[in-house]
Amino acid sequence: MTKVVRIAMNRPLRRLFDYTLGADLSLQPGQRVQVPFGRQQITGLVTAVGVTPPPGVSLKPVRSVMESWPALPKETLRLLSWASDYYQHPLGECLFTALPPALRRGRPALRKTEAWWRARSSGAQLPPQAHRQKALLAWLLQYSQGAATSAILSAGFNRSQLKTLEQKQLIEAAEPVLATTPTESFAAPTLSPAQTDTAAQLPDPAQGFSACLLYGITGSGKTEIYLHYLKQHLGEQDQALVLVPEINLTPQTVARFQRYFGQRIVVWHSALNDGQRLDTWLKIRHGEPVILIGTRSAVLLPFTGLRTLIVDEEHDSSYKQGDGFRYSARDLAVYRAHLNKCPVILGSATPSLESWHNAQQGKYTLATLEERAGNARPPQIKLLDIRSRPLEGGLSRPALNAIKQVLDNGEQVLVYVNRRGFAPVMMCFDCGHMVECPRCDTRLTYHRRDNAMRCHHCDFQAAATSQCPKCQSDAFKPVGQGTERSEDILTTAFPDTPVVRVDRDSTQRKGSIQAILQTVNTGEPCILVGTQMLAKGHDFANVTLVVVINADGGLFSVDFRAPEQLLQTLLQVSGRAGRGDKPGTVLVQTCHSDHPLLRTLCTGHYGDMAEQLLVEREGGQLPPYRAMAIFRAEADTMEKSLQILDTIKPLAQAPGLEIWGPLPALIARRADRYRAQLVINADNRKRLSKTLANVCLHLDQQKQPSGSRWMIDVDPQET
Ligand code: ADP
Ligand code: ZN
Ligand code: ZN
Repeated sequence: MTKVVRIAMNRPLRRLFDYTLGADLSLQPGQRVQVPFGRQQITGLVTAVGVTPPPGVSLKPVRSVMESWPALPKETLRLLSWASDYYQHPLGECLFTALPPALRRGRPALRKTEAWWRARSSGAQLPPQAHRQKALLAWLLQYSQGAATSAILSAGFNRSQLKTLEQKQLIEAAEPVLATTPTESFAAPTLSPAQTDTAAQLPDPAQGFSACLLYGITGSGKTEIYLHYLKQHLGEQDQALVLVPEINLTPQTVARFQRYFGQRIVVWHSALNDGQRLDTWLKIRHGEPVILIGTRSAVLLPFTGLRTLIVDEEHDSSYKQGDGFRYSARDLAVYRAHLNKCPVILGSATPSLESWHNAQQGKYTLATLEERAGNARPPQIKLLDIRSRPLEGGLSRPALNAIKQVLDNGEQVLVYVNRRGFAPVMMCFDCGHMVECPRCDTRLTYHRRDNAMRCHHCDFQAAATSQCPKCQSDAFKPVGQGTERSEDILTTAFPDTPVVRVDRDSTQRKGSIQAILQTVNTGEPCILVGTQMLAKGHDFANVTLVVVINADGGLFSVDFRAPEQLLQTLLQVSGRAGRGDKPGTVLVQTCHSDHPLLRTLCTGHYGDMAEQLLVEREGGQLPPYRAMAIFRAEADTMEKSLQILDTIKPLAQAPGLEIWGPLPALIARRADRYRAQLVINADNRKRLSKTLANVCLHLDQQKQPSGSRWMIDVDPQET
């Protein structure tokens, strides 16, 4: 009898394809094959062998088997199949997400042999200005057996520095060695008594699966605890995964891990090239005992010996993929730990309400750490009501005075503004005209540096004008605050102090956030002005004052997650103050100083805020008390989008399911596409899943209006 195998393609199709297998071939699930598909030969992944095909169809044979081993081992396949069902995304696309681009395209799974380097001298003869070359030599000297080029690059050095040192014969080629640790063992700080207590509450890997929420305030030493935990529990042959929201913003985290674990540390993020991705992927797949520090998609990699997972800043919204296969890396990490029978630690100073709720319910254990490491004290948060105060560029007099004082003391200030550009809108004070994006239902942000008006939702851009485009009045002015404007005001107010702006525009220009932060790292008095980017994990020892220009944006938003995100951001930004020996203060400017959430913010106890928000969520029958999914549609007219959703509304009716909509999305038109959504809110996840599967199947079989598109978002982050 002919053998038949079932194969998944990297196509947005909710179905698999059967092929026959030559008698001389054998296959197991997860293997890569080449198969004829239409007129093409494409790469597929085997999902099942020995299947019975539907009668009466003639099957084509598998053309070739690409490796003798499964590219996706059993447990990774199970994870992805589960995710495909849970997120209602076609299995083929889910499976291919776990392959590096080269293997998706059908390239061989061969590892380039990578050059290794060893130091030959301490480089005393190098000129004093060759800082980076000296630093590279010093780094290499830690490893008597040498280091791989990739390890050298991920430690922050570049190829031209390597080349120069090679030409000067200060380094030489070395034989590759597997995962080594630094020869001189690094003297790790001992944990404080409070940290030791907290570390003792973390799960013991010998006990199998356990999910633990590590709630530790900013600066309490969570990273230090992760390091000790891995040191203590990770076996020599074990793999570990540490998920982080963004690597490029905080390379010092990787450096800290490298000090402990040397070249056992491997990184995974979007800036790797295809060769680096393949190389790292192969290390993981072949079970090398690496500790992988990676962003979102690292959770999908084919680990074979994974014994510990850590999700740092677990509340961060970047763990949720925003298009295509819309998975949550945090939630998949928990499922993966469950499959692997190993622990997962979710760490944050501002845990998501989902995780907080899970800890309350006893689904996760809770380990807490409510004091800062070393001599640092938690910052004091104060509200500054600006209702009747004159503002200079968004800053009140008391805030400016406080800034002056801190600078006079030789300390640093961080000013948080939630919008990049100069001002969120240009308005005519004669006719009231506000400049809108011609392609979106949004206003254009004024960027003064480039004299441009830009849409932050599509790539539209226009030259800025000094007159109202409608009535030609000269009373045409920027309204509201952006980072550029705050930078200008602060530069004028404090002409002798460097003002450093950190946002997407300034980091793009400078190449990296690290280049920008050099001034800050000297510890000299300076003012940092920036967006969310400044809230993430930075350790500025000399920042003692944080000023929040305006806290009110998220208080009255229609998005039910807005208050949670506002508090998380405010606490994370606040957490940058007073991390050294000097105490920190946070001034939050607001027009709603009596708002209960802001009042709780001042206590600094995130737990109280979370409880308060959870009561609201429960009252509103919202996640985490209910399961939510959103069908989104977009088309060249709103009618078409609403029409698609109207047809599925009756199909989504089921007991225990509430349906809201269809309604136009918050920004109904974006890049000339009209968007609508249908929200499904369920008291039972199984029923929700089943209903969604039915609706997706129906939508797939139906011909949709031309130029339209629909998608499904399970556990949406944005509503
Ligand atoms: P978190 O991740 O909780 O914000 P970190 O792990 O980054 O905190 O620690 C904050 C700062 O305190 C870092 O500079 C870290 O090196 C330092 N630190 C943490 N624990 C200790 C300790 N036990 N001894 C000395 N310094 C510590
Ligand atoms: Zn006008
Ligand atoms: Zn636009």
